[in-house]
Amino acid sequence: GSRFQVVEQGPPIEVFQLNRLFTEDSHQNKVNLTVGAYRDEKGKPWVLPVVRKMEKQLAADDTLLHEYLPVLGLEQFTNASVSMLLGADNPAIAAGRAFGVQVLSGTGGLRVGAEFLNKHLKYTTFYYSSPTWENHHLVFVNSGFTTPRQYRYWDEKARAIDFDGLIEDLSNAPENSVILLHACAHNPTGIDPTHEQWEKIADVMEERKLFPFFDSAYQGFASGDLDRDAWAVRYFVKRGFELVCAQSYAKNFGLYNERVGNLAVVVSDASLVAALKSQLTWIVRGMYSNPPAHGARVVATVLGDKQLFDLWRDHIKQMSSRVIQMREALRAELIRLGTPGSWDHIVKQIGLFSYTGLTQRQVEYLVQEYHIYLLKSGRINVCGLNPSNIQYVARAFHDAVTK
Ligand code: PLP
Repeated sequence: GSRFQVVEQGPPIEVFQLNRLFTEDSHQNKVNLTVGAYRDEKGKPWVLPVVRKMEKQLAADDTLLHEYLPVLGLEQFTNASVSMLLGADNPAIAAGRAFGVQVLSGTGGLRVGAEFLNKHLKYTTFYYSSPTWENHHLVFVNSGFTTPRQYRYWDEKARAIDFDGLIEDLSNAPENSVILLHACAHNPTGIDPTHEQWEKIADVMEERKLFPFFDSAYQGFASGDLDRDAWAVRYFVKRGFELVCAQSYAKNFGLYNERVGNLAVVVSDASLVAALKSQLTWIVRGMYSNPPAHGARVVATVLGDKQLFDLWRDHIKQMSSRVIQMREALRAELIRLGTPGSWDHIVKQIGLFSYTGLTQRQVEYLVQEYHIYLLKSGRINVCGLNPSNIQYVARAFHDAVTK
């Protein structure tokens, strides 16, 4: 017998399993609306031209070595990331009380940040929105947090934020709870708080002494504007909160598999930074020792060069505009077909995703009858839509809703 016989089969990860089923499906009209990755108007993955350009340049540079990066990463990269998040002219940067740690994409930022808060501040309770990105729970529990809690976020009926529920749940949170907040383009609902609502969230969090942990996986993707998408984080910093923020370059640079991310840390006093950096160094050292260089070099070079930066901003605009067009096209097509219900939420939602409001049974029907793959929550990746499949998808939605 094997000592490994004790190991039981774990459950599949929904989004990757659906992806596999999609790949194996031989139906000619199949549509993949599952993964959170950009697809162009032909349904293909897109390597951003500025990234290709940088990669060619890096490949030709004989001075680049494969020596280890420092444990906390490329400083040019972490500094540029903090500037992109907070705005280069942010007083917190000038005061030396904001810094970054290069991490393994957004997930790695959440993981390092959570372990740090648990180990050094002894925080054990965390709150995430209901619903949220499915990995938040696991990452925090694996980082040592023992008490997972949820705050209300989505009002199914109104297809809007359950703001009273949210405020009530935060008001009841114990002091020093870590509150996970989506910086923009909330996944999966696609609905963000308004500025006034963010102000009220900050009021409650200040009063209740809660700790903000921002997750910024879509900066630039929500509005097409990097500054506008960072509004909430900058507002909290302006209000005087100490906070951390996991920044991912998976979506806005299309660097999914390069695992490029930054954990931004803002504290109240620059004199605290050295100790924090030293302890974060030990956390990274014990987890993966030091980060990979390739993606961080690409991003740091683009963020640090005015011309390349402008090129990148155009790419983000292009991607976010295509998503907006597809939202409008899907809604228009459903209205044209006379599909019962209001479909305004599809165009009100922002970012990559739409929470369609389709039920689990309707979702199963779409998979079985139409080979259209989407999460059982009804979440679709809007850029899985394109001019060649949008009518097919709308007709299928119509059928699923009216059958
Ligand atoms: N946070 C949210 C809300 C996300 O949607 C994602 C990716 O889908 C991530 C974090 C982490 O992504 P990554 O680790 O690929 O940067």
